[in-house]
Amino acid sequence: MEKRRIILVPFPAQGHVTPFIQLGHALSLKGFSITVVQGGSNQVSHIPGFQFVTIPESLPVSQLKTLGPVEFLTKLNKTIEASFKDCISQLLLQHDNDIPCIIYDELMYVSEATAKEFKLPSVIFSTVSATTRVCGCLLSNLNAEIDMEDPEVQDKVMDDLHPITYKHLPTSGMGPLDRYLELCKEIFNRGTASGIILNTARCLESSSLSWLQQELGIPLYPLGPLHITASTNSSLLEEDMSCIEWLNKQKSGSVIYISLGSKAHMEAKEVMEMAWGLCDSNHPFLWVISKSVPEEVSKIVSEKGYIVKWAPQDQVLGHPAVGGFWSHCGWNSTLESIVEGVPMICRPFGDEQKLNAKYIESVWRIGIRLEGEVERGQVKRMVKGLIVDDEGADMRDRSIGFREKLKASMRVEGSSYNALDELVKFLETS
Ligand code: UDP
Repeated sequence: MEKRRIILVPFPAQGHVTPFIQLGHALSLKGFSITVVQGGSNQVSHIPGFQFVTIPESLPVSQLKTLGPVEFLTKLNKTIEASFKDCISQLLLQHDNDIPCIIYDELMYVSEATAKEFKLPSVIFSTVSATTRVCGCLLSNLNAEIDMEDPEVQDKVMDDLHPITYKHLPTSGMGPLDRYLELCKEIFNRGTASGIILNTARCLESSSLSWLQQELGIPLYPLGPLHITASTNSSLLEEDMSCIEWLNKQKSGSVIYISLGSKAHMEAKEVMEMAWGLCDSNHPFLWVISKSVPEEVSKIVSEKGYIVKWAPQDQVLGHPAVGGFWSHCGWNSTLESIVEGVPMICRPFGDEQKLNAKYIESVWRIGIRLEGEVERGQVKRMVKGLIVDDEGADMRDRSIGFREKLKASMRVEGSSYNALDELVKFLETS
């Protein structure tokens, strides 16, 4: 008998593609065939057994920087609308109409209307944390008249969501508030979706999940962290494996791994202060710098440090030599770090990352936040604090505690295991 085929529609950026491919892998282990429909320039195509389809009319992701997120997402969804519909209609012909569901990234919200038009059930996959998703819902309910700069508004607490207040809602760098809130309504309106998949676990975000459950009133499937059971190589860039050989030569728990995400912009002075601080800490460090490295920085790091353009991050975090992770706190990086029991130095850039950093520092207490300007003395102290001091050891212990809970949640009868089972039941019967 033909396997039932699920269509996945990821947003074309690494932090979205990775969990989508992991979800596809998890579902293929449960007996489904997978088709990935993708547009834009960041495409994967090398997962054995998956079918990959390209949306011909799309928008290169490089335009995200020039247009800004609001303009880009609006334009992307408009641009792909007609050709996405064609793709789905061809897939239906090709697979005898036997497609039980479209699972789409909420940023690819145009998928919902198409699914509805073809009378296909749809499920949203939100690749951010449940808490960020909560903030998205709150934003979509806000009135554009609200003054987000007003201290009274900023300090407004969210019931049951301590320590999050309105000032944590991701609004900065989004341009005019009214246009942004309009887009939030598009993205976070669940429309006719039958459920929401989240790459998180109850033991990490139970109150946010309860909040979402109540607010949205459709099944939630918190089935993460997916990479524990569904690790596949979905890297969009070539990973430099030489860093594993370098790590093999370092002492256990001595290395600080630094990766600040592809979107982070850092001033040259800041990079220099980081380099000096890392060297002064006297700990070996592995640093991902995807752009070309200034010569002065190469000179400073040459003795203690190792620089790569792109690392096999999962393997790096799982390496016994790694004792700490200096991160921009993207959601995937956060999960990957917790699953390996590695404490973090948080240096978030965007609002969503700030929210994750808040949880890392104040809720789970498995990291410290580096705030303000980067200065070498402070870098040295923070690295030592994380790798050598009792404070770092306590954070490591707590992180290992979460690691065990997360692994248990993925085992038979664990909460994430059960959520995947419920999703599978839905897909089998829809
Ligand atoms: N990543 C990687 N190698 C690197 C840097 C990052 O494989 O050198 C991966 C990382 O493991 C994670 C993803 O890229 O799965 C980044 O996703 P995240 O949500 O952390 O950040 P975003 O890029 O979305 O801001």
